[in-house]
Amino acid sequence: CKIDYQPAADLLNERIVLVTGAGDGIGRAAALAYASHGATVILLGRTIAKLESTYDAIEAAGGPQPAIFPLNFEGATYRDYQDMAETLYQEFGRLDGILHNAGLLGRITPFEQYNPELWEQVMQVNVNGPVWMTQALLPLLKESADASIILTSSGVGRKGRAYWGAYSVSKFATEGFMEVLADEMDNQYPIRVNTLNPGATRTQMRRTAFPGEDANSLRTPEDILPTYLWLMGPDSRGTNGQKLDAQPPRS
Ligand code: NDP
Repeated sequence: CKIDYQPAADLLNERIVLVTGAGDGIGRAAALAYASHGATVILLGRTIAKLESTYDAIEAAGGPQPAIFPLNFEGATYRDYQDMAETLYQEFGRLDGILHNAGLLGRITPFEQYNPELWEQVMQVNVNGPVWMTQALLPLLKESADASIILTSSGVGRKGRAYWGAYSVSKFATEGFMEVLADEMDNQYPIRVNTLNPGATRTQMRRTAFPGEDANSLRTPEDILPTYLWLMGPDSRGTNGQKLDAQPPRS
């Protein structure tokens, strides 16, 4: 946990970083923070109006001009990820980082009642889509001198919890994918791969999962950004295959 990390103002200068789910919640805050530290950010998500709002906020703050890449992990195919890699290659020539942040909660419900279509939808958005997107983008990451892949986990991706169903299983799969890829990259390429658990954070997803909770007791997306910046930038060089937390455990 690097919640007290003080990033240099130019931490991500000249870096090209992709953020998924960049239109809302933690992804939006991370995209703004990456841009304000110098990165050219590719904003990926499924709701174009929300991506445009993030885009406008980056422009208004005087950050490097971002790019918008509309994509819905639910419907996207293997071919779409290949096309995406081609487009990004033409436009940027390389990629210095991916924050895999987009995520779907599904339903908090006893496993016995879990709807199979919803289960597959959650696995598609949280695991399969990001996996094939990562495969397609590896050639671009290999063009970078120092690339960071951040996969978003959760407390329930490290210890299963009753009623969390596909979401919990998808985050365990995310941890597993991270370990496989990190082990393959180790010492072969300057690409580090780690998971980051944001911890309880004041967003729409958290509100849906804990409707009775006092949101004011939670950290905001802005509060947890130091760890997001540390892990994306050069100060985390050498950190590979780790399961990290963005905030200390709540007492
Ligand atoms: P939000 O629900 O606020 O944001 C999720 C983002 O993912 C949105 O931008 C959403 O787009 C995007 N998204 C969802 N489905 C798709 C899809 N099919 N294709 C493309 N984009 C999609 O959630 P948070 O900001 O809270 O969560 C961010 C990450 O952090 C997630 O991976 C979540 O699992 C994880 N996390 C969050 C915690 C918390 O307390 N908030 C705790 C632990 C983990 P749109 O807005 O257009 O729907």
